[in-house]
Amino acid sequence: MAKLEVLKFPDPNLRKKCKPVDRVTAELVQLAQDMLETMYEHRGIGLAAAQINRQVRLIVLDTRRPEGDEREVRDELGVPELEKNIEQPLILFNPVVKKKDGKITYNEGCLSVPTYYEIVERARLIEVEALNQEGKKIEFTTDGLLAICIQHEIDHLDGKLFIDRLSPIKSARIKSKIRKFGYGSRDDAEDESQDEDSELRL
Ligand code: ZN
Repeated sequence: MAKLEVLKFPDPNLRKKCKPVDRVTAELVQLAQDMLETMYEHRGIGLAAAQINRQVRLIVLDTRRPEGDEREVRDELGVPELEKNIEQPLILFNPVVKKKDGKITYNEGCLSVPTYYEIVERARLIEVEALNQEGKKIEFTTDGLLAICIQHEIDHLDGKLFIDRLSPIKSARIKSKIRKFGYGSRDDAEDESQDEDSELRL
């Protein structure tokens, strides 16, 4: 089992800016596979290399509903038109948002900020350019949860967390609360059952 450790706020390593990948090597593809495995184990829908302390521009995503997952949180967004046509899981190196349109809000969570959820505003529709695991340039347009998740993960590569995107007062309040109390028993990231946690982590 290749489970990687997921860093949690306020770990300073989460603030480092990640470097573009020159070439997609076998080692990086293996890393991406290990990240997917780690993400699934934590029941996340996205993971950025920064979160496992590798400062490379790599994100992995899977916003499909896993078998047996009865949580209704995905229904909020449905499966929008463009998202459903994209083959997942996705492994993206050097992802860049080339174009964005519209606005959407979603109650975001994060594997690096377990048990906290806040409404964040993102672009509704995005055009993405990246390298796939064969090192080939790909371009696609998506909406829905996948669009939100890609924007959240790219933020990680720039050292940014969703709690930085809240109002200054809210952001400061959450950060000081975590610094003071940690995640305590609310942190069920180590607990695979996660019965009480019905939201999605990006
Ligand atoms: Zn996150």
